[in-house]
Amino acid sequence: MRLTVLGSSAGAPTRLNPASGYLIEHDGSSMWLDAGTGTFMPLASLTDPGQLDAVAISHVHVDHASDLFGLYGYLAYGPSGTVPVPVFVPNGAPELFGAFARASGEHVFNHVLDFREVGAGDMAEVGPFSLSFGASVHAVPNNIIRIEAGGRTLVYTGDAGPGGDLQTAADSCDLLLCEATLQGSRDAQTYEYHLTADEAGEVAAWAGVDHLVLTHVAHNLDPEVSVAEAAGRFAGRISYAAPQSIFEV
Ligand SMILES: [Zn+2]
Ligand SMILES: [Zn+2]
Repeated sequence: MRLTVLGSSAGAPTRLNPASGYLIEHDGSSMWLDAGTGTFMPLASLTDPGQLDAVAISHVHVDHASDLFGLYGYLAYGPSGTVPVPVFVPNGAPELFGAFARASGEHVFNHVLDFREVGAGDMAEVGPFSLSFGASVHAVPNNIIRIEAGGRTLVYTGDAGPGGDLQTAADSCDLLLCEATLQGSRDAQTYEYHLTADEAGEVAAWAGVDHLVLTHVAHNLDPEVSVAEAAGRFAGRISYAAPQSIFEV
Protein backbone atom coordinates (compact mmCIF):
# COMPACT_ATOMS: atom_id res chain seq x y z
CA MET A 1 0.00 0.00 0.00
CA ARG A 2 1.27 3.47 -0.85
CA LEU A 3 0.41 6.79 0.80
CA THR A 4 0.94 10.03 -1.11
CA VAL A 5 0.43 13.31 0.73
CA LEU A 6 -1.64 15.70 -1.40
CA GLY A 7 -1.75 18.29 1.35
CA SER A 8 -1.31 18.42 5.11
CA SER A 9 -1.83 22.00 6.25
CA ALA A 10 -4.01 22.43 9.36
CA GLY A 11 -7.17 24.46 9.06
CA ALA A 12 -6.49 26.12 5.72
CA PRO A 13 -4.28 25.74 2.67
CA THR A 14 -1.07 27.72 2.52
CA ARG A 15 0.68 28.87 -0.68
CA LEU A 16 2.68 25.67 -0.93
CA ASN A 17 0.63 23.16 1.02
CA PRO A 18 -3.05 22.32 0.47
CA ALA A 19 -5.19 21.35 3.45
CA SER A 20 -5.63 17.67 4.40
CA GLY A 21 -5.79 15.09 1.63
CA TYR A 22 -4.09 11.79 0.84
CA LEU A 23 -4.01 9.31 -2.02
CA ILE A 24 -3.93 5.65 -0.98
CA GLU A 25 -3.00 3.14 -3.66
CA HIS A 26 -2.72 -0.63 -3.70
CA ASP A 27 -2.45 -3.03 -6.60
CA GLY A 28 -4.00 -0.67 -9.15
CA SER A 29 -6.80 0.49 -6.85
CA SER A 30 -7.03 3.88 -5.19
CA MET A 31 -8.77 5.81 -2.44
CA TRP A 32 -8.92 9.54 -1.73
CA LEU A 33 -8.62 10.05 2.00
CA ASP A 34 -9.92 13.49 2.99
CA ALA A 35 -10.74 16.08 0.37
CA GLY A 36 -9.26 19.18 1.95
CA THR A 37 -8.99 22.53 0.25
CA GLY A 38 -6.60 22.40 -2.69
CA THR A 39 -6.16 18.61 -2.82
CA PHE A 40 -8.28 17.85 -5.89
CA MET A 41 -5.70 19.16 -8.35
CA PRO A 42 -2.70 17.20 -7.01
CA LEU A 43 -5.00 14.16 -6.87
CA ALA A 44 -5.91 14.68 -10.53
CA SER A 45 -2.26 15.06 -11.49
CA LEU A 46 -1.48 11.63 -10.00
CA THR A 47 -4.53 9.58 -10.97
CA ASP A 48 -7.83 9.85 -12.84
CA PRO A 49 -10.35 11.05 -10.22
CA GLY A 50 -13.04 9.30 -12.26
CA GLN A 51 -11.51 5.91 -11.47
CA LEU A 52 -11.24 6.12 -7.66
CA ASP A 53 -12.45 3.02 -5.86
CA ALA A 54 -13.66 5.12 -2.92
CA VAL A 55 -13.44 8.38 -1.03
CA ALA A 56 -13.34 8.57 2.78
CA ILE A 57 -13.81 11.85 4.63
CA SER A 58 -12.95 12.01 8.31
CA HIS A 59 -15.26 14.93 9.14
CA VAL A 60 -17.12 17.86 7.65
CA HIS A 61 -14.69 20.66 8.46
CA VAL A 62 -13.82 22.61 5.31
CA ASP A 63 -10.10 21.79 5.47
CA HIS A 64 -10.99 18.08 5.12
CA ALA A 65 -14.01 18.16 2.85
CA SER A 66 -14.32 21.17 0.54
CA ASP A 67 -12.73 19.61 -2.56
CA LEU A 68 -15.35 16.86 -2.60
CA PHE A 69 -17.27 19.40 -4.68
CA GLY A 70 -14.40 19.36 -7.17
CA LEU A 71 -14.91 15.61 -7.60
CA TYR A 72 -18.66 16.14 -7.86
CA GLY A 73 -18.16 18.60 -10.71
CA TYR A 74 -15.62 16.34 -12.41
CA LEU A 75 -18.00 13.37 -12.34
CA ALA A 76 -21.22 15.24 -13.09
CA TYR A 77 -20.23 17.96 -15.55
CA GLY A 78 -16.57 17.35 -16.45
CA PRO A 79 -14.56 14.44 -17.81
CA SER A 80 -16.72 11.99 -15.75
CA GLY A 81 -15.75 8.44 -14.76
CA THR A 82 -17.13 5.31 -13.14
CA VAL A 83 -20.11 6.35 -11.03
CA PRO A 84 -21.31 6.32 -8.40
CA VAL A 85 -18.17 6.38 -6.27
CA PRO A 86 -18.62 5.25 -2.63
CA VAL A 87 -17.98 8.14 -0.21
CA PHE A 88 -17.58 7.12 3.44
CA VAL A 89 -18.55 9.97 5.76
CA PRO A 90 -19.63 10.52 9.36
CA ASN A 91 -23.31 10.42 10.18
CA GLY A 92 -25.13 13.57 9.10
CA ALA A 93 -22.58 14.62 6.48
CA PRO A 94 -24.66 13.81 3.35
CA GLU A 95 -27.37 16.22 4.43
CA LEU A 96 -24.86 19.04 4.91
CA PHE A 97 -23.04 18.40 1.61
CA GLY A 98 -26.31 17.96 -0.28
CA ALA A 99 -27.61 21.26 1.06
CA PHE A 100 -24.57 23.10 -0.30
CA ALA A 101 -25.05 21.44 -3.70
CA ARG A 102 -28.80 22.19 -3.48
CA ALA A 103 -29.29 18.49 -4.17
CA SER A 104 -32.26 16.39 -3.18
CA GLY A 105 -33.76 13.13 -4.41
CA GLU A 106 -32.72 12.38 -7.99
CA HIS A 107 -30.27 15.28 -8.30
CA VAL A 108 -27.09 14.38 -10.22
CA PHE A 109 -25.09 14.98 -7.02
CA ASN A 110 -26.72 11.89 -5.56
CA HIS A 111 -26.12 9.89 -8.75
CA VAL A 112 -22.36 10.39 -8.87
CA LEU A 113 -21.60 10.25 -5.12
CA ASP A 114 -22.82 7.22 -3.15
CA PHE A 115 -22.69 8.43 0.46
CA ARG A 116 -22.24 5.77 3.12
CA GLU A 117 -22.63 7.07 6.66
CA VAL A 118 -20.30 5.28 9.05
CA GLY A 119 -19.20 5.63 12.65
CA ALA A 120 -17.36 3.86 15.44
CA GLY A 121 -17.43 0.07 15.05
CA ASP A 122 -18.54 0.08 11.41
CA MET A 123 -16.62 -1.87 8.78
CA ALA A 124 -16.67 -1.91 4.99
CA GLU A 125 -14.95 -3.54 2.03
CA VAL A 126 -14.16 -1.66 -1.15
CA GLY A 127 -11.87 -3.07 -3.83
CA PRO A 128 -8.81 -4.49 -2.03
CA PHE A 129 -9.34 -2.19 0.97
CA SER A 130 -10.87 -3.33 4.28
CA LEU A 131 -12.03 -0.31 6.23
CA SER A 132 -12.98 0.09 9.86
CA PHE A 133 -13.87 3.18 11.80
CA GLY A 134 -13.45 4.64 15.27
CA ALA A 135 -14.47 7.92 16.87
CA SER A 136 -12.12 10.70 17.91
CA VAL A 137 -12.69 13.59 20.27
CA HIS A 138 -13.26 16.60 17.99
CA ALA A 139 -15.56 19.60 17.63
CA VAL A 140 -17.74 17.66 15.16
CA PRO A 141 -18.06 13.87 14.64
CA ASN A 142 -14.75 12.60 13.23
CA ASN A 143 -14.00 9.09 12.03
CA ILE A 144 -10.61 7.55 12.67
CA ILE A 145 -10.13 5.46 9.52
CA ARG A 146 -8.25 2.14 9.53
CA ILE A 147 -7.35 0.75 6.10
CA GLU A 148 -5.99 -2.74 5.50
CA ALA A 149 -4.77 -4.04 2.15
CA GLY A 150 -2.26 -6.68 1.14
CA GLY A 151 -1.59 -7.58 4.75
CA ARG A 152 -0.56 -4.01 5.69
CA THR A 153 -2.45 -1.48 7.78
CA LEU A 154 -2.63 2.31 7.70
CA VAL A 155 -4.57 4.30 10.29
CA TYR A 156 -5.54 7.94 9.77
CA THR A 157 -6.77 9.91 12.75
CA GLY A 158 -8.44 12.80 10.96
CA ASP A 159 -8.70 15.57 13.57
CA ALA A 160 -8.50 14.42 17.17
CA GLY A 161 -8.05 15.59 20.69
CA PRO A 162 -6.71 13.21 23.32
CA GLY A 163 -8.80 10.14 24.09
CA GLY A 164 -11.63 8.59 22.12
CA ASP A 165 -10.75 5.49 20.10
CA LEU A 166 -7.25 6.67 19.13
CA GLN A 167 -5.30 3.96 20.87
CA THR A 168 -7.54 1.01 20.00
CA ALA A 169 -8.01 2.10 16.38
CA ALA A 170 -4.25 2.51 15.90
CA ASP A 171 -3.36 -0.76 17.62
CA SER A 172 -0.31 -2.43 16.03
CA CYS A 173 -0.72 -0.70 12.67
CA ASP A 174 2.16 -0.39 10.21
CA LEU A 175 1.71 3.34 9.61
CA LEU A 176 -0.15 5.81 11.82
CA LEU A 177 -0.96 9.05 10.01
CA CYS A 178 -1.63 11.13 13.09
CA GLU A 179 -2.66 14.72 13.47
CA ALA A 180 -0.23 16.82 15.53
CA THR A 181 -1.60 20.32 15.22
CA LEU A 182 0.07 21.68 18.33
CA GLN A 183 3.45 21.75 20.06
CA GLY A 184 4.56 21.99 23.67
CA SER A 185 2.94 20.36 26.66
CA ARG A 186 -0.77 20.49 27.36
CA ASP A 187 -2.08 22.81 30.03
CA ALA A 188 -5.48 24.25 30.88
CA GLN A 189 -5.33 26.64 27.89
CA THR A 190 -4.52 23.96 25.30
CA TYR A 191 -7.26 23.37 22.72
CA GLU A 192 -9.04 20.13 23.60
CA TYR A 193 -9.88 19.04 20.04
CA HIS A 194 -6.34 18.69 18.64
CA LEU A 195 -3.22 16.77 19.65
CA THR A 196 0.23 18.02 20.50
CA ALA A 197 3.17 16.27 18.82
CA ASP A 198 4.04 14.87 22.23
CA GLU A 199 0.58 13.30 22.48
CA ALA A 200 0.84 11.89 18.96
CA GLY A 201 4.07 10.19 20.01
CA GLU A 202 2.34 8.85 23.08
CA VAL A 203 -0.47 7.32 20.98
CA ALA A 204 2.09 5.70 18.67
CA ALA A 205 3.97 4.22 21.62
CA TRP A 206 0.85 2.91 23.36
CA ALA A 207 -0.53 1.44 20.14
CA GLY A 208 2.79 -0.16 19.19
CA VAL A 209 2.84 1.22 15.65
CA ASP A 210 5.74 0.75 13.27
CA HIS A 211 5.93 4.19 11.63
CA LEU A 212 4.42 7.45 12.88
CA VAL A 213 3.72 10.14 10.27
CA LEU A 214 2.80 13.51 11.74
CA THR A 215 0.33 15.62 9.81
CA HIS A 216 -1.99 18.66 10.20
CA VAL A 217 0.83 20.62 11.84
CA ALA A 218 -0.19 24.26 12.28
CA HIS A 219 1.27 26.40 9.47
CA ASN A 220 3.25 28.65 11.82
CA LEU A 221 5.07 25.75 13.51
CA ASP A 222 8.29 24.04 12.42
CA PRO A 223 7.50 20.37 11.64
CA GLU A 224 11.03 19.35 12.63
CA VAL A 225 10.28 20.53 16.16
CA SER A 226 7.08 18.43 16.09
CA VAL A 227 9.08 15.35 15.04
CA ALA A 228 11.58 15.98 17.85
CA GLU A 229 8.78 16.37 20.41
CA ALA A 230 7.07 13.14 19.27
CA ALA A 231 10.44 11.37 19.49
CA GLY A 232 10.47 12.15 23.20
CA ARG A 233 7.59 9.69 23.57
CA PHE A 234 8.01 7.25 20.69
CA ALA A 235 11.24 5.44 19.89
CA GLY A 236 10.16 4.15 16.46
CA ARG A 237 10.37 5.77 13.02
CA ILE A 238 8.80 9.24 12.77
CA SER A 239 8.21 11.31 9.62
CA TYR A 240 6.45 14.53 8.72
CA ALA A 241 3.72 14.45 6.05
CA ALA A 242 5.25 17.10 3.80
CA PRO A 243 3.17 17.76 0.69
CA GLN A 244 3.96 15.36 -2.18
CA SER A 245 5.84 12.97 0.06
CA ILE A 246 5.30 9.27 -0.55
CA PHE A 247 5.34 6.54 2.08
CA GLU A 248 5.27 2.82 1.43
CA VAL A 249 3.12 1.22 4.13
ZN1 LIG B 1 -8.46 20.05 10.31
ZN1 LIG C 1 -11.48 19.52 12.22
